Amino acid sequence: MSTLRERHDTAGWQALDRQHFLHPFTDHKSLHEHGTRVITRADGVYLWDSEGVRLLDAMAGLWCVNVGYGRHELADVAAAQMRELPYYNNFFKTANPPAIALSALLAEVTPPQFSRVFYAGSGSEANDTIVRLVRRYRDVRGEPKRKTIISRWQGYHGSTVAGASLGGMSAMHEQGDLPIPGIVHIDPPYWYGLGGELSQEEFGLKAARLLEEKILELGPETVTAFIGEPIQGAGGVIIPPMNYWPEIERICRKYGVLLVADEVICGFGRTGNWFGCETFGFKPDLMAMAKGMSSGYLPIGGVMVSDEVANTLIADGGEFYHGYTYSGHPACSAVAERNIRIIRDEGLVERVRTDTGPYLQARWRELGEHPLVGEARGVGFIGALELVKDKATRTRFDPLGETGTICRDFCFKNGLVMRAVWDTMIMSPPLIMTRAEIDEFIALARRCLDLTAEAVGVK
Ligand SMILES: *Cc1c(COP(=O)(O)O)cnc(C)c1O
Repeated sequence: MSTLRERHDTAGWQALDRQHFLHPFTDHKSLHEHGTRVITRADGVYLWDSEGVRLLDAMAGLWCVNVGYGRHELADVAAAQMRELPYYNNFFKTANPPAIALSALLAEVTPPQFSRVFYAGSGSEANDTIVRLVRRYRDVRGEPKRKTIISRWQGYHGSTVAGASLGGMSAMHEQGDLPIPGIVHIDPPYWYGLGGELSQEEFGLKAARLLEEKILELGPETVTAFIGEPIQGAGGVIIPPMNYWPEIERICRKYGVLLVADEVICGFGRTGNWFGCETFGFKPDLMAMAKGMSSGYLPIGGVMVSDEVANTLIADGGEFYHGYTYSGHPACSAVAERNIRIIRDEGLVERVRTDTGPYLQARWRELGEHPLVGEARGVGFIGALELVKDKATRTRFDPLGETGTICRDFCFKNGLVMRAVWDTMIMSPPLIMTRAEIDEFIALARRCLDLTAEAVGVK
C-alpha cells in the first residue's frame, strides 16, 4: 500500500502548506519565510525529512513516542481493529472490547488508589474532564461553593479553554482572555530560577507553602482541587525539590483539597517509574494521562479517578452530563493497550530507572560543565539545560529566548531535535534509546552548544 509521501517533492509540499495549513503554536509569517521542514518517516529514535536528512529525535515527538518509532505491531493492531469495529461510542450503556481491556490494564499499572478511568481524546480534553469532575464531585457531596482550582505559573495543561486556563502561560492567557473564572495560580517550585540563596530543601518547603497561603487567602471552603505536573514539562522541565510534593500532599489533606497530578508527560515511564507521582512520593486523587499512553501512534487521553471520588460519583451522582464522541475509541484504545503491554513486557520503565536513565543523566550532567550552561538537571528520560550569560551569577541573556532559539536552530541544522523554552534547552527522548544513541545525542548536543556559545560570544 502506498502513502501520500511520493505525491509531491519538498517544494510542492511547502507550497501547498503555505497556502492551506494554519499550524498549531506557529508564527506563520516566520514559517513562510523559511518554509516548512516536511517530516516523512521515522524509525527507532530517528526521523527523516523529505530531503532524506536524518534527525535524532531527543523530544520523542512532543514528549510522547515512548516506545520509539517504527513499531509495526501497533500499526497491525490498529488495522485489525479498524477492520473489525472502526468506531462505536461508549454512551448509552454500550462499550467495546478494546476500551474495556485498556481500562483493566490501566488499573494494573497505575497506583493502587485507582481502578477506574474516564476517556478523552487528548491531554487537554483530559484536563477539561478534570475541571468538570472536581466541580461535579463537590455538588454531589453537597459542597456547591467549593469550586476553585489552584494551579501554577509556567504549568502546561493543554490548549483548550480549560486547559490553557489551568496552565500558567501568561502569553496564552493574554490571547484568549483567560483564565476562566475559578482558576488561580501560585509560583512554581523552580529552584534555579526563583530559589535565590535558599537550599533546595528550604526552597521546596517555601514553594509548597504558597499553596497553603493561597488556600487560606481564598478560604478552604471555596477550594476544590490543586493540579500540577510532577515535573513541569513545557514550562522548562522544572524539577521540584524532593520535599515539595509530600508537603503539597500534606496541605491538600489538611484542607480537604483534591490532589490532581497531570501525568501527561511524566506518565508511562518517563521518570523511571510508571507515573511521576511515584518518583516524587505522593498519592493523587485524580491523574490526567495522554501522550505516552499510546506513544502518540493514535490520539487518546484519560483521567484515572480514585475509588473514593469514583464511588461518590457513582453512588450519589446520577448521570454525569459529560463525554466525548471519541471517549474509549476502539482503535485508539487497542493501540494504547498494546503500547502499554510493550512498555511492561520490554521492561522499559525498569530500564529507564536502573540502566539507560542513570547513564543518560550522568552524560547530561557533563554538559553542565559547558561555559554556556548554568545548570544541567533531569530525572530518568527528561532533562533541561539552562543557557546563561554568566554561570557564576546566574545572569540570563537579554532579551530572554534569543539564545535558546539560536541553539535550537543549530540543533535542527545539525541533525538533532531539542526544544527551547526561552533559554532553557529541554530533552525527552524515546524510552528505547540505547547507550550508543545516548552517546551520539550528547555529542551532537555538545557540538550545538559550542556553535551557540560562539554565536553569542560566550567563552
Ligand atoms: C501536552 C500536555 C497536555 C496537553 O495534551 P494535548 O494532547 O496536547 O491536548 C496537558 N498536560 C501536559 C502536562 C502536557 O504536557
